[in-house]
Amino acid sequence: MKNVHPSDFDIQRFAFELSDCKAEIVTHINTCATCKQKADNYLSVSNSIKVQPEPVLEFDLSALILAQLPTMSKKEAAYNYFIYFLMALSTLVVVAAILYFKEAIVGLFANTSAIPTSFIVSTCLLILIVIGIDTFRSFHKKMNLLNY
Ligand SMILES: [Zn+2]
Repeated sequence: MKNVHPSDFDIQRFAFELSDCKAEIVTHINTCATCKQKADNYLSVSNSIKVQPEPVLEFDLSALILAQLPTMSKKEAAYNYFIYFLMALSTLVVVAAILYFKEAIVGLFANTSAIPTSFIVSTCLLILIVIGIDTFRSFHKKMNLLNY
């Protein structure tokens, strides 16, 4: 028999997962009164916890939470309306700018040769694709965070 007692972790493993326990630790605990007592204490504590009834709240938690939800959703709705207003305003500004500079934009593509125009269009498409992929990936990352 060794004079050194096994650690609490090993004693807990002996008490709850005997099949994972090393043979020398099993032998020690079976022959050592102190360690055997510790293992029995762990088992009795575990059994008394299992016997405890499920904890029950004395008040209706869901009713309390539902009572607080309307104030939050009002704030959220106002924020959403502000976002919609900004989107409509920016769309209006872009459409107005396109209408105002219509001749200049048409002249940009009509008078120049096809090579600079294709460079401009391909660069814009490349930037749009990169930004779109980045937005899509960050959206998925955030959704995964929300789903735990
Ligand atoms: Zn011991």
